[in-house]
Order: sequence, then C-alpha cells, then structure tokens
Amino acid sequence: MAPFPSHSQSLLPNPRILILDRIERDSDRFRLRVHVEQEPSCPVCGEVSRSRHSVYSRQLQDFPWQGVAVELWATIGRFRCRNSSCPRKIFCERLPGIARAFGRQTERTSEIVRLIGYVAGGLPGQRLLSRLSIATSDDTVLRRVREQPTEASAVPIHNLGVDDWAWRKGQDYGTILVNLDLHRVVDLLPDRAAESFSAWLKQHPEIVTISRDRCGLYAEGATLGAPQSQQVADRFHLLVNLSATMERVLEERSRQLILPPIEQPPAEPLRADVTDISEEPPPSVPRRATQSQLRRQRRLERYQQVMALFNSGQSQAAISRALGMGGKTIRRWLRRGEFPERKPPHRPPPKVSQFADYLQQRWNEGCRNASRLYQEIRQKGYSGKHAMVRRFVSGWRKTGKPTSPEAQQRISPKHAAILVTRPADKINDEQQQLLDRIEAQCPEVSDLRKISLGFRAALAGDDSNQLRGWVEGTKHSEFGPVVRFAYGLQKDISAVAAAVDTTWSTGQVEGQINRLKMIKRQMYGRAGFELLRARVLPYPPVPVAGPAP
Ligand SMILES: [Zn+2]
Repeated sequence: MAPFPSHSQSLLPNPRILILDRIERDSDRFRLRVHVEQEPSCPVCGEVSRSRHSVYSRQLQDFPWQGVAVELWATIGRFRCRNSSCPRKIFCERLPGIARAFGRQTERTSEIVRLIGYVAGGLPGQRLLSRLSIATSDDTVLRRVREQPTEASAVPIHNLGVDDWAWRKGQDYGTILVNLDLHRVVDLLPDRAAESFSAWLKQHPEIVTISRDRCGLYAEGATLGAPQSQQVADRFHLLVNLSATMERVLEERSRQLILPPIEQPPAEPLRADVTDISEEPPPSVPRRATQSQLRRQRRLERYQQVMALFNSGQSQAAISRALGMGGKTIRRWLRRGEFPERKPPHRPPPKVSQFADYLQQRWNEGCRNASRLYQEIRQKGYSGKHAMVRRFVSGWRKTGKPTSPEAQQRISPKHAAILVTRPADKINDEQQQLLDRIEAQCPEVSDLRKISLGFRAALAGDDSNQLRGWVEGTKHSEFGPVVRFAYGLQKDISAVAAAVDTTWSTGQVEGQINRLKMIKRQMYGRAGFELLRARVLPYPPVPVAGPAP
C-alpha cells in the first residue's frame, strides 16, 4: 500500500519501517492501523527470513494526539527461521526503535512515563499522564522509574562528599555520595556502614579527597577503601559537635539557667496570666518541656506525611494503611486544614496567685514575713499551702521588689549552647542581653564562650596550627565534655586540620539530602530503596526520539 498522503506517516515512531494504512476514530482514541516493511531477521541467529508463517495484531500505546489517546494497531508477521542449525523455528518480527519485545507502549511513550515518574512520583505521575491522555497505572509509572539505567557514573570523581540520611528517623540510615565538583549525587547506599562505603570507594581509586562528618564509620570506611585520599572533617559538623559539647556542659548546670525576671516598672500588675507556673521543683521542668517538644515534633511529622499523601491524591483509607494510623484521626486532621496544636495541659493557677494584689500591697507596705502573710491571706480565704506563699514572695525577696515568680525565665541547655557558640558578629543586641543574663547566673558561661569563639576563629582561619593549638590548650579545660571533645579532635586531627587547609565541605550534600527527603516523603510507604535511588540519581541523558524529517 502506498504511504498515507499526509504528515501522519512521518510522525510515526521509526517511519522507515512502520507504514500507516489508515486512521480510525474510536469514541475515546485514535486507532492507527499500520504494517511493517522490513526484512525480518531471526532474533536468535540473525538470519533474514521471507517465509511468513502467520500474522497477528499487536497494540501499542503511543503519544496522544491533540489530547486524544493514540493506539497503534500493527500487523506483525510470524516467520519461520530457515537456518537449520538455529534452535528457534518460528519468530515474531521485532520493531526496532519502536517498541521492545512484549512491550505494550512505544519506546518513546515509555520514556515520557519514566521521566514524569522520575520528576513527580508514582501516583501524581499517573494523574498527570492520564490528563495528557496516556492512561497507565501508578505501578507502571514506578516500574518504569525503577527500570531506568543507573549505571555507575562514568565521570571520574575527584572530590567526594559523604553523609548519612535517615531512612527511618532514629532507626535506619543510608549513605549519600556526592561528586563535589559537579554537585551531583553519584550514588546512594542502603546502609551506613564502613564496609559498604569502603567497598564502594574501591571502585573509585581516582578519588583525591573525601569530605565527611565525624562519625567514625565514614572515617573507617575511607581509610579502608581509599587509603590514597585525604579525609576532610566537615566544618559544619565540627560546629555541631562543638554546640553539642556546650549543651552537655550546660545540662550539668541547668539549675543556673533559671533567670530572674528583668526588672520591671513597679506599676506592673501581678496578675498571674502566665500559664506555665509549676508547683514542682524546677529541674524537672526543662526535661518535661523537651519531651513535649519531641512529641509535638513527631506529631508534626506525622501530620505532614498525612498531608503529603493526601495532596498526592491518596485516599484516606490508603493513608491509614500506609501510616498505620486510625482513620478517625486522619479525617479530623484533614477536616481541620491546619496542624492541630495540642492544648497546653490545663493547670489552674496556684491558689496563692488569687491573693497576688493583696500580697503585693502588704509587701510594699513592708511586710516581708511569709508566715505572717500566709496567716493574713488565710483569713481572707486562702486554702493553699504555706510553702506556696513562701515561694511566691521569694522572688521579691531577692530583688526587694514585688515581681511575680512566673516571670522567671528558664533557658534550655540547648538554647544556651546556641548562644554560647554563636559567632560574635551574628549575635544581636537581644541575644547579647540574654547571654549577659545567663552569665550573671552561671559565670562559667564566659569561659565556655571564649572556648567556643576560639574554636570558631581557629576553624575560620587559614592556618591549621591555630586549630592544633586550640586542641592542645583545651585538653586541660575544667569542663569534662570539652576535654572529651578536644581528645576526639586529636584522634581525628589530620582530617580536622584539613577542614582548615582545604575548602571542601559537605555543605552541598545537605542540600541533596533535603531533596532526597522530599522525594522520600512524596513516595511515602512505597519508597523502596531502588526506587528512591533511581529518583535521587540524576536522570540519565536520553537521545531525543523525534519524528524523522
Ligand atoms: Zn534463527
């Protein structure tokens, strides 16, 4: 049959062998009847055969046309292989450049499905494709992404960044490897172990430097797998270690982190509208606060997962299955449309605060005796304990002024550590004031600050001897955690010194980890390692399969 008299022929995949016979319009699709003109050769021995055995029709999903789905109905021949030494007797002719054997989509359609799956994920990809009239299932989309060839990068890697990422927070960790020169992820390992890292490194003897955190595993893996390389401790991780060290020192001094109220104008009313007054001894309070913060953090992550799944089109039942959560909670959260904060636990204000005005007045009149004040307010109906009255006025006793004990400010060791380690040029007036107030309660903060700034300066300098000097000097510090930190640096000193002597850091790896997290969250519950890896690695370059001219 002569070629179809239009451009339609030239728009077919591989129009050199695929010949358009006619176009039929179905209710929801175009059906393109085509036949094949080629010299069919046996896929086993390669011999050309003209001995047709039979024909059958093969259907292939192709690119849609003007928003309408397109199906190729190809008449395909079965041929006899005449090569007597060939084990294959009958073969179906192949469609090179059109579709893979047994494929149900044309190759160019599969490629689009793969690309959309790579960018958008399974279900969103499926929806987008369906809108573009390429009907497919989310499973198929994910399968295509997984099939993507992810052969190890052929480009040599000179400077490598390595870090871990949470597969399941607090439980499982994987490893991410980044080519620092090209800013590209080169691989993902399913675990965080010296063995797997060193095995990977052995395939890349060209690596010159390895930028890593101070987790001993990567140091060990690098030493084993790439002894030729120079290891560089990451500056950011070093500062995180410093901050954690300071936090440990300050945890031991948490009682000194309760700051007296800032002096206030005397007219300030004593109304106890501060809710977090506690009748328990102070030390337990920061811990309780941290635990509730942790709980809130966990709920928030849960909430974000639910919203991400919902936004990607999952049903409530599917979300419930994926996250192992009750449907009721999910419905409540979705209905609410914002993160449901827990109400702070209702703690009635201590009874004594009802008599705050009277106590303030008597205090100002000169009555400083807690027992006397207790007796007086008892007459007025106070039914609480004597100790509460004593505590209530104890804050006034220090300053000589009636101020509410509720105005005491508790600083968490973590917050204090952040202030202590903050660079001098990044600290604003308010933070400096707070730091001064902390120092007034806990004078050692001044030494801790000196130690921290000394470390920062050494790390930011260009002479690693300064850093070595800092380590030497700090080994004799009076603070246990600081001493341990210094000895830890000592053990890893060549990598630590390289943090000053080289410019490499894992900063860009953090960015890649954020991208990984986003993809993982998008695919929640279905993110098998191979799939995650396929979506995190760069999309391999694809030869553009356009129509023939
Ligand atoms: Zn053959």
